[in-house]
Amino acid sequence: MVGSIDHFIAGKIVKGRSGRQGDVFNPATGEVSAQVALASKAEVEEAIQAAQDALPGWAATPPLTRARVMFRYKQLLEQHVDELAEMLVNEHGKVLDDARGEVQRGLEVVEFACGIPHLLKGEFTESVGTNIDSYSMRQPVGVCVGITPFNFPAMVPLWMFPMAIACGNTFILKPSEKDPSAPLRLAELFMEAGGPKGVLNVVNGDKEAVDTLLTDPRVGAVSFVGSTAIGEYIYSTAAAHGKRVQALCGAKNHMVVMPDANIEKASDALMGAGYGAAGERCMAISVAVAVGDAGDRLIDALEPKVRALKVGPGMDPDSQMGPLVTKQHLEKVSGYVDLGVEEGAKLVVDGRNLHLQGYENGHFMGGTLFDQVTPDMRIYREEIFGPVLSVVRAPDFKSALKLVNDHEYGNGTSIYTQDGDAARAFASNCNIGMVGVNIPIPVPMAFHSFGGWKRSAFGDHGMYGMDAVRFYTKLKTITSRWLTGMTGGAEFAFPVMR
Ligand code: NAD
Repeated sequence: MVGSIDHFIAGKIVKGRSGRQGDVFNPATGEVSAQVALASKAEVEEAIQAAQDALPGWAATPPLTRARVMFRYKQLLEQHVDELAEMLVNEHGKVLDDARGEVQRGLEVVEFACGIPHLLKGEFTESVGTNIDSYSMRQPVGVCVGITPFNFPAMVPLWMFPMAIACGNTFILKPSEKDPSAPLRLAELFMEAGGPKGVLNVVNGDKEAVDTLLTDPRVGAVSFVGSTAIGEYIYSTAAAHGKRVQALCGAKNHMVVMPDANIEKASDALMGAGYGAAGERCMAISVAVAVGDAGDRLIDALEPKVRALKVGPGMDPDSQMGPLVTKQHLEKVSGYVDLGVEEGAKLVVDGRNLHLQGYENGHFMGGTLFDQVTPDMRIYREEIFGPVLSVVRAPDFKSALKLVNDHEYGNGTSIYTQDGDAARAFASNCNIGMVGVNIPIPVPMAFHSFGGWKRSAFGDHGMYGMDAVRFYTKLKTITSRWLTGMTGGAEFAFPVMR
């Protein structure tokens, strides 16, 4: 009998009552490992009420006290890295080292949140007018919501709730129903760290749960990370219901390889960025733009490396790439490989139909490499989200930059070159949110902010860093004077400071 994964509301695990459940798989074996409860509207409303009830007390808790909870949470997360990482391997499929890295990158946001007393300091101006002072403060938005994707079940929730909570908000997390164990454990550990009940709640569910969160008047802000189609829906629906929204979405990240690049290093970078986590990263490189004569050399360097990629279960220390998250996703990704062949791209390495002894039902696929991909092809235009790397040839820097800028997505990009002028021109002129120079996956650190451009993000704030402080707080500015500053009589003209 498989176990059940339920909700975490008002400080405790709450059994699902909707009668609806979803299967959670171990992607390496293809077996159902658990059943996750899918919350009804009433169950989600219970979580919203718990967050609403906890709000006044938590918002009034001094930032220093909130920071101390975060310090204890950071310690607990450090002690539980391996436990969390194993949960990620067993439900997402990524390899153990990569899973540890995911937890670490999430933990760094908690470290940043420990500095919240400093981050929340407002501004003060003495004498904006005669005997009049002005100061600003940042106050919590209220009940905040996070809706997160399957590909980073620990890191993306940690991008959101530590900063929201440190800012004095309460939070409801609706994780992906594909790998819900780690997010639930994150909530239990937060309670253990001293988080009051109701401050962090987790509801598992699907559209019914999400729609309840997007429309309930008690919710003040919604953070979303996931695909563009759903993100656009989240953004417009939540905004239409008066909430502030940030929705970070899909991607098709290009790496430009200039003719002067070190091809050995560039191809190594493409291996990690294209095939790490089986390409299931929003910052994965899925397109290599080979400029001038870099093309043939790049393919020659890549082909043997892709063939040598060690694909296997995530808990095997020899595996470099694990399985895809579900059978359905595996079919979608290999369907894109069929499509690429139909569209006329040159299939250099074919990862379809990979069978691993002992793991016949696992969702495995080998690394796939296409050459001669062109911008009109669907395999170029659409996000595949699997271990499929497309090489596009461009005659010069200008046409490579144009490709990057013309694509509808604008999450991340990178350039490999030894020419400082080319790198500088690329960083200045690309229409993309996060840029790497000889760095394949330029994910900003926790004290910067993460966010894409174009159809990779809706809303005007990134995740974590100072953008999170701005997103999760409302700015209030006070202009104040005392009796000594008051002059007689009513004033009917618009006030001008003197
Ligand atoms: P998804 O859009 O299918 O799901 C994301 C969340 O939305 C999940 O919690 C899911 O339950 C919910 N959801 C799904 N369908 C819904 C519907 N019809 N109505 C309401 N809610 C719904 O995304 P995914 O497949 O879990 O994740 C992969 C996607 O996330 C990729 O497109 C990837 O690029 C993107 N992603 C983006 C970033 C970023 O920072 N830009 C980071 C990670 C992942």
